[in-house]
Amino acid sequence: MNRIKMTTPLVEMDGDEMTRIIWQMIKDELLTPYIDLNTEYYDLGLKHRDETDDQVTIDAANANMKYGVSVKCATITPNLARQEEYGLKRLYKSPNGTIRAMLDGTVFRAPILVKGISPVVRKWKKPITIARHAYGDVYKNSEMKIDVPGKAELVFTAQDGTVTRKTIFEFTGPGVIQGIHNLDASIESFARSCFTYALAVKQDLWFATKDTISKIYDGDFKAIFEKIYEEEFRDRFNEAGIIYFYTLIDDVAARLMKNEGGFVLALKNYDGDVQSDMLSSAFGSLAMMTSVLVSPHGYFEYEAAHGTVQRHYYKHLAGETTSTNSVATIFAWTGALRKRGELDGNSELAAFADKLEHATLTTIESGKMTGDLILISDLENKEKLSTLGFIKAVRETLDTLM
Ligand code: NAP
Ligand code: MG
Repeated sequence: MNRIKMTTPLVEMDGDEMTRIIWQMIKDELLTPYIDLNTEYYDLGLKHRDETDDQVTIDAANANMKYGVSVKCATITPNLARQEEYGLKRLYKSPNGTIRAMLDGTVFRAPILVKGISPVVRKWKKPITIARHAYGDVYKNSEMKIDVPGKAELVFTAQDGTVTRKTIFEFTGPGVIQGIHNLDASIESFARSCFTYALAVKQDLWFATKDTISKIYDGDFKAIFEKIYEEEFRDRFNEAGIIYFYTLIDDVAARLMKNEGGFVLALKNYDGDVQSDMLSSAFGSLAMMTSVLVSPHGYFEYEAAHGTVQRHYYKHLAGETTSTNSVATIFAWTGALRKRGELDGNSELAAFADKLEHATLTTIESGKMTGDLILISDLENKEKLSTLGFIKAVRETLDTLM
């Protein structure tokens, strides 16, 4: 068989633990047999990040800016336990945080729906896509532990030397403080990404913050969205027959349960982090959620929404058979390959991505799935496969489509 050629390299970021194992399996079984895979490889595994003082993460993000499209494996964000486990020189920042800070933009996360797996919320019929702002707030914070009584202040020193102060709190005992920020430019590009994405998929856009409490900070988000909507998108939304709807984050939590789905929900960084895990679990599984970072500069980074599945990895290391779901990681690859294909006018590559997704879903709908889905699938005849067994079953289905 002639393997599909790629003109421009895809930036490949390898990762950690169970997802690193899955990464190699996907390449061996589902990609290289069909594609003459042209990737620029960056090893973001924790060991190599430590060896390079995390330079590899920065190099990978730069390559993403050079070529436009990347695919990323889940990676460990080290904490103290990980520092000990891997003998790290220091506690590195989250690679996703570093990459997002460099690329800017918005992370869109959508559940992968399959027959036989019904959302917990019976009302939900269509996917709900979460658009998570990928810059700033608590992810780029400055924190302090307060041990003695004293006054905490917000101090802003303008370039001309003018100082503005605001009291945060007068401490009489121990406590904590935190400073966070965001940029109008980043919020504007977040808003534009969301409005543009909603138009592209012809779905309503919801946006929520807590501007009743955070009148200035969240109020800024609300005002920027409103301004950009009025000035650039209102007419196009009307034409497309979709709406832009702003409400409070707690109101969204309530409305979500009574709605059919089929819309894009834009959220601030932290809200998006929490809500995307809630939605993916409620739609079925963390492993059935796609994730793509869309930067306003036209860069795309595809990944799975879940982590490195540490518990399964330790089973794998102990020689036990694992049944880890590879669907989100497969869809990270297909998303990236399709986008690469679209940008290069390589329709064969884009068509392959469609086929691989179709093969993956058909395999699950035929009853062959991993343990996490066995628990929630209402199919009558279902078979639990191992991590590799499932990937091989997808390959079998794929071969019937090629
Ligand atoms: P996790 O890897 O997402 O796994 C949490 C649990 O969810 C697993 O123990 C497993 O449940 C279930 N699960 C997640 N993905 C699954 C899959 N593909 N198939 C089957 N079950 C799956 O989160 P974590 O264990 O909290 O974090 C592990 C590491 O991942 C951490 O070091 C964290 O820093 C990192 N992380 C990375 C990213 C990223 O790179 N994007 C995101 C989040 C976390 P059961 O154990 O019950 O089977
Ligand atoms: Mg998260």
